Amino acid sequence: MSHPADTFTLYDLRIEVIATDRPMVCAHRAGDWFELHGEMLRFPDGQGFPLYPLAALLPILPAKQRPTHPADWMTTDAEIACPDPHCGARFRITRTGTRTFRHDEVTLVPMPTSAREADA
Ligand SMILES: [Zn+2]
Repeated sequence: MSHPADTFTLYDLRIEVIATDRPMVCAHRAGDWFELHGEMLRFPDGQGFPLYPLAALLPILPAKQRPTHPADWMTTDAEIACPDPHCGARFRITRTGTRTFRHDEVTLVPMPTSAREADA
């Protein structure tokens, strides 16, 4: 699949709370979820998400948004443990689709002319 040289594609992500055989301590419930589309976090109406698990997830999400090598653990591993050592929750990250962005719509930093003309 060919794209114009000034576009790129990211995965949309869905992050869902998964129960385990250990009890949950934090204010998240099995089935709670949020999604990431580009830079936007989307939460269902009326549902929150606790700060500390969110902080643990944030460094992983930009990497999961991007295409990764099949052998890369970032491709295969999709569950993150809650950072509270007493909490049994897991958070499953699923790539749900793709979204294409144009460079000029997401940054003011110009592309090098050589990159812009790469597939012209
Ligand atoms: Zn937790």
